[in-house]
Amino acid sequence: MNIPILDLKRQYTNLKDEIGQAIQGVLESTQFILGPNLKELENKIAAYCNVRYGIGVANGTDALELTLKALNIGEGDEVITTPFTFIASAEVASKVGAKPVFADIDPDTYLIDVDKIEEKITERTKAIIPVHIFGQMCDMDKMMKIAEKHNLYIIEDSCQAIGSEYKGKKSSSFGIAGCFSFYPTKNLGGYGDGGMIVTDDEELAAKLKILRAHGSNPKYYHSMFGYNSRLDELQAAILNVKFKYLDEWNRRRREIAHRYNEKLKVKVPKEATYEQYHTYHQYTIEVDDRKQFEDYMKANGIGTCIYYPVPLHLQEVYKSLGYKKGDFPNTEKACKRVISIPISPEMTADEQEHVIATINNFFK
Ligand SMILES: *Cc1c(COP(=O)(O)O)cnc(C)c1O
Repeated sequence: MNIPILDLKRQYTNLKDEIGQAIQGVLESTQFILGPNLKELENKIAAYCNVRYGIGVANGTDALELTLKALNIGEGDEVITTPFTFIASAEVASKVGAKPVFADIDPDTYLIDVDKIEEKITERTKAIIPVHIFGQMCDMDKMMKIAEKHNLYIIEDSCQAIGSEYKGKKSSSFGIAGCFSFYPTKNLGGYGDGGMIVTDDEELAAKLKILRAHGSNPKYYHSMFGYNSRLDELQAAILNVKFKYLDEWNRRRREIAHRYNEKLKVKVPKEATYEQYHTYHQYTIEVDDRKQFEDYMKANGIGTCIYYPVPLHLQEVYKSLGYKKGDFPNTEKACKRVISIPISPEMTADEQEHVIATINNFFK
């Protein structure tokens, strides 16, 4: 049995007719940028998060970068985030001229350890970017308390956590803004790049709409330098179709994850003890001999992936920040041991049993 880490073909096959019609509709309309499909998606995602505004942009990275820009974060400012994430979470701070500052993770949840944030705050700190890694939400009560106390912005990186909840409230609805990615492999993925910012702040929403269109308002009148960063109509139309299934897909992901938790004889991912709804963008286990395990899985036709092999503070591009090995031991240990295994809404029970049996056979 061959089981890839993610099988996008299966989902497409299930939705083929609906998606085909949606694409055809855009082609016939010939309105490709900033049209009705985007408007519909922005309204739907904002309502889903229970905030007023959604601003579609070209990708999740831009969602974060434009938000920093719109909040006037730049040269001389510091932004606190986790070193255990995709580069984009920190890269955006650097790109606007600010400095990313890292705090170590909790070794069980892989989320930034909120108790280690305050010691990183200086008079230059302007924002915290909590990353809801693998679909699990950070401790937002604690996070918001720190932000209030020190007058910092919270910009949620929910690129892996669309539909996740903390105490009944959706990801991206806690901070001044939250960012989503519609990269094809995300829980809600388009057929190309895409992203969105959601916010309840009217002024910020207005500024983001100007920023994504070259700083123009109205068209051809430019009050600031902006970006060319729009979510196009084809992607929006595809995402409008797929959005209907998001909750069901997330529910199925959780079912698969809980079955893994129950059956796997290995260090399985822990859910934090506060009330939350983890949407398992990834299902990540820890093993001692990762290379050997990876080869074994490959030989058995089962896909795996390593998120993430190198902590951000030890990336070459961040040499100038002056971090060294040993600065964030929990992150460094995780980067040596984690490996993600197949999880997707389309995975069958038989396939999952096969993955479980294969993994448990390795540890016998
Ligand atoms: C995918 C991802 C991003 C970036 O999204 P893109 O759409 O690929 O630009 C940012 N942060 C995290 C945690 C991600 O997983």
